[in-house]
Amino acid sequence: MSPGGAARGRSIADQAERMVGWLKTVTGEFEIPDLYVVGRDDWDAVASFPVYGMPHEAPDRIVVGQEPAEFWDAVLDSIDPFLSRPDRAELVRVYGDPVTLGGFADLLVSHEIGHYLHPVADGADPTSFWLREMLANLALQGYVSEMEPSLEETLLTVVQVCWRSTGSSWQFTELTDMGRATDGDGANYVWYEFGLQVLTKRLWTNAGVTALRRLIDLLSGPAPTQDEAIAAIEALDPGVAADLRQWPRFVS
Ligand SMILES: [Zn+2]
Repeated sequence: MSPGGAARGRSIADQAERMVGWLKTVTGEFEIPDLYVVGRDDWDAVASFPVYGMPHEAPDRIVVGQEPAEFWDAVLDSIDPFLSRPDRAELVRVYGDPVTLGGFADLLVSHEIGHYLHPVADGADPTSFWLREMLANLALQGYVSEMEPSLEETLLTVVQVCWRSTGSSWQFTELTDMGRATDGDGANYVWYEFGLQVLTKRLWTNAGVTALRRLIDLLSGPAPTQDEAIAAIEALDPGVAADLRQWPRFVS
């Protein structure tokens, strides 16, 4: 951790430890690297993602921001013109006024840990890209649903509100373009993650640990084609597969 960040580092590390403990009971042993919780001044030296505070994983480290990150404001700004009055009220009810997504962002270390459940695959393959993100979201969803259900509202409210508030104003919207959406201020990429989280919540509810293990298998062999990946998910949850085929035309 960066100087002055001991309390924050401890709290993220504690959450990571709870996640790893739960996940190993479901999937068996797996290796995770060191966790870095870093301030703004140290970000560029440690991170492999340029946008400050965007949690991410690398072969040898998990990197999380220590201070509140502006890109969450970019996400909120991107949906602001499209918010219905009830959705605006819902954001305030769950995240306060002004809306701050710190509590939501703190959960994302569990997503990063979910990336270590399978061997590192070719980062350029567009199907493997969204499938890897879906697995990490499924691990996060499973952890929150099973171990910290009181935080499910914190996890899903901004996800669902954002997904139903936008859809037409992004540079990238095709499912297979998710990997290209990492450029810019991060909001377009977060929109993809939110769409996958909407589907992942349903996948966990309907198929749970079976889905988690199936996605790990899928990512541990040769890269599946888009049709093969969606067909595998169809066997777990036909509704989620149908929505993947018509991405992004489904509602949260
Ligand atoms: Zn991820």
